[in-house]
Amino acid sequence: MKLPMHEMSLAESILQVVEETARSSAADQVRAVRLEIGALSHVERDSLRFCFDAVTRGTLADGARLEIDATPGRAWCMPCSESVELSRLGDACPRCGSYQLQVTQGEEMRVKDIEVA
Ligand SMILES: [Zn+2]
Repeated sequence: MKLPMHEMSLAESILQVVEETARSSAADQVRAVRLEIGALSHVERDSLRFCFDAVTRGTLADGARLEIDATPGRAWCMPCSESVELSRLGDACPRCGSYQLQVTQGEEMRVKDIEVA
């Protein structure tokens, strides 16, 4: 099995945010973590879930449910001079078919909120 290094470091950053948030609300157990992941980010969801389970073992987020919301991707199309929707990285502009696109949204990932016990 290929080691999902990228997802492992993402899971660790998520855990950091989750622990800080839980601590500031004086919670000692996290029930769920809601993430927003851009449709164009290179995140393998199954790997991320696997890594999240691994890094949270023995922490206050042990056994927490991971909910993933996808945020749509957008790009600036040069020929159209317009912002267009992009469902996948590497796709052409849905209006004119050009590949001269600059991604403006959809590559980010953030912790939206957490549910504590
Ligand atoms: Zn276009």
